Amino acid sequence: MTTFHIHIQGIVQGVGFRPFVYNLALSKELLGWVNNSTDGVHIEINADEDIAQAFLDSIIEYPPELAHITYFNIFKTKEKEFSKFEIIHSVSADENNVLLTPDFGLCPTCKKEIHDPDNKRFNYPFTTCINCGPRFSIINKLPYDRETTTMDHFEMCESCQKEYNDPKNRRYYSQTNSCPDCSIEISLLNSGGDLIDEGNNCLKDVVGFWKKGKIVAIKGIGGYLLTCDATNPEAIKLLRQRKNRPDKPFAVMYPNLKVLKKELKVNQVEQKELQGVNAPIVILDIIEQSNIIIDVDSVAPKLNCIGAMLPYTPLYELLLSDFAKPVIATSGNVSGSPIIFEDKQAEEELASIADYLFINNRDIVVPQDDSVIRYSAQQQQRIIIRRSRGLSPAYINPELKVPPLNIFAAGGGLKSTFSFTCFKNFYTSQYLGNLENMITQNSYSNVVDHFFEIFNSKPELVLADKHPLYYSRQFAVDLADKLSVPIHYFQHHKAHFAAVLGENNLLKSKESIIGIIWDGTGYGDDNNIWGGEFFEFKNEEINRIAHYEYFDHILGDKMAKEPRISALSIGLNAESAEEILNPMFTRLEWHIYGVLLGKENNLKTSSIGRLFDAVASLLGLIDVSSFEGQGGMFLEKCASSWYGKNKEAIHPVYFTPESNSTISINIEKIITDVISGEAKEKIAAQFHLSLVEMIRHVAQKSNNKNLAFSGGVFQNSLLIDLIIENLQDDFKLYFHKQLSPNDENISFGQVMLYEILNY
Ligand SMILES: [Zn+2]
Ligand SMILES: [Zn+2]
Repeated sequence: MTTFHIHIQGIVQGVGFRPFVYNLALSKELLGWVNNSTDGVHIEINADEDIAQAFLDSIIEYPPELAHITYFNIFKTKEKEFSKFEIIHSVSADENNVLLTPDFGLCPTCKKEIHDPDNKRFNYPFTTCINCGPRFSIINKLPYDRETTTMDHFEMCESCQKEYNDPKNRRYYSQTNSCPDCSIEISLLNSGGDLIDEGNNCLKDVVGFWKKGKIVAIKGIGGYLLTCDATNPEAIKLLRQRKNRPDKPFAVMYPNLKVLKKELKVNQVEQKELQGVNAPIVILDIIEQSNIIIDVDSVAPKLNCIGAMLPYTPLYELLLSDFAKPVIATSGNVSGSPIIFEDKQAEEELASIADYLFINNRDIVVPQDDSVIRYSAQQQQRIIIRRSRGLSPAYINPELKVPPLNIFAAGGGLKSTFSFTCFKNFYTSQYLGNLENMITQNSYSNVVDHFFEIFNSKPELVLADKHPLYYSRQFAVDLADKLSVPIHYFQHHKAHFAAVLGENNLLKSKESIIGIIWDGTGYGDDNNIWGGEFFEFKNEEINRIAHYEYFDHILGDKMAKEPRISALSIGLNAESAEEILNPMFTRLEWHIYGVLLGKENNLKTSSIGRLFDAVASLLGLIDVSSFEGQGGMFLEKCASSWYGKNKEAIHPVYFTPESNSTISINIEKIITDVISGEAKEKIAAQFHLSLVEMIRHVAQKSNNKNLAFSGGVFQNSLLIDLIIENLQDDFKLYFHKQLSPNDENISFGQVMLYEILNY
């Protein structure tokens, strides 16, 4: 009997692929088998060529909803005679070549079941099916099967096993299957570590604690979230104190869309995002003059937007539907580190923050924070702020040529990620935190090891940032050394540029492209601190063609934390600057900083991040920030409030090619406008527009029609809107797509840069 073999790769495991193939084969009365292997899904059938091809076509055209096929192949194989169609046991291939499946949010069918008193999963907080539940967060190795996940020690009850074995059931081969009879166990601890309750009673307890203003750490999908009543200012204040996080906005989980819509502006696209399988945090503007029940002043001090999400696990769904009000849901961690995901660490480190720990006995393998997305207000440009749960780690771009060798790219320092290519698959890890403290460094190193283990492969080449002091660079050096493989070092902003080129499949572009790469800090080729860069990509080479005019970089990291120092450095020599600047400092500071700025051999910077800080400070919005990017956020908010409401046109008055001999903002004019009492909202808006004009100027001078944007500054959604509105008619614009514009894309960019330079 003619026998065909079909091989399919991509996101094909943990998405119901085998049951789907099984049912399709039955409906077409085909005989053979399907299995999961470490290199994808394999199928064999008895069929003529036409029928086999038609079978493959229907798989490719209408695959399971959550699947993503990146490769398929069909060929005639040795003749066999099958008597039925079956799912056969998983096998290991030579290559671990399947894309890791991300975690999926609660599906509508499971949601219905947990609220249905007649269903056996009524109120069961770990209800999942083939269309929802954890995947990446529980997988120990490939292929994805129950015994390779942290579900391995849970034995299914008879009824679950029946579902698992029934091809007609939604839980056929669902590896996360469990029910109240074979339950994942939950328990509640107090901050002293004493067990205070077990089983489903815990749910009622938690809701009771929220009502009393208590803080509860809850073990979710990617780690522990710290939660409390978002309508209770006292509880939030306590959380801020204990977490040592005075101002940085908290994310809020709403019980449902209806409650969310009463106070936040949400359009169709954003709604789809909130309810989608990835279920990220979406940053939404607050509706003014609505009866807001969350305490905005303590949730997001001095801001006009909220990072909102909907319950994405059955556990959160049950808790929130009972509580019926929004809760704060912020990553349980030490500031700047990734989310805590191990029970022991949670007990040690969250006990001082949370009053109670709500735990369960299903282990989490890797930490994943909630992903964060926003859409620009006018142009609806999608901006990834943090890429993690649901969005990482598989990077799928069919047009991207993945290098044939295994490359490890270590990324940057802040907002770290790493990238790993193996067997022509591309992975960019989830956000792994700021690599400044040991906890984050250990976590980074553990996740790297986990990847090498899962794919059972090691890098043949290592890439790192040029910054001599980055932990990621040292890690890369040690790794290359240990494996005796070559290592290359790349400049930070060139990696950013290569990243946005790669995302837009422009590595082989015949036309030249300008890269506008703006961020806070990166180690420059001239040993200065870059961050306001204009590159040209031409003939497969990247050259720096312009940069924001250098200003003094003093006091090391302190400058990034205190916007007033940037204001001083940029503004000191402007006429009448002292009038505004002097009151921000003590007499001693004024004297010392003045002396420092007068020195000749100061380190220089072109950082646009610091420029935003400086302008925010000159406008009196902020002197000292309590979290990274705060100055920029305040300035954006200030500008948006003008741009959104005033019909009066704004003009790029702070950058005019005629009056600007260098690539810089006319700070003197900003200071004059502040002193003359111009509305600071208007100054902020015109500052944003002036930056857009600066971009136009550089692009025109270099005769370029293509502009690509990367760097943390482009998380600013007003700036993105202004760029699109003002430049799209004259230029082709390229932004990041699947990755964040911030330093999370450095590791990806390092691989792209390697490709460009073609070593
Ligand atoms: Zn489901
Ligand atoms: Zn069961």
